[in-house]
Amino acid sequence: MDIEANVDLMNRQTFKLVCAQCGSLTVALPVEAQPDPCSILKCGRCGSPRGTLQALRDTSVQAGIRHPV
Ligand SMILES: [Zn+2]
Repeated sequence: MDIEANVDLMNRQTFKLVCAQCGSLTVALPVEAQPDPCSILKCGRCGSPRGTLQALRDTSVQAGIRHPV
């Protein structure tokens, strides 16, 4: 059983709204106008990876954070 692959998959699919390292909610958002959905967003406080931009979008939609159109 490849545990490392499973962890990697989880990290890619689930965005950590709260940093596991420092507990901060701050996220360093990408500065590009058209950021790559696969780019990793980092904690705005300690810089540890929090998940991909795509994962953030998916998580936001699930949590109902998305702005109404
Ligand atoms: Zn952090």
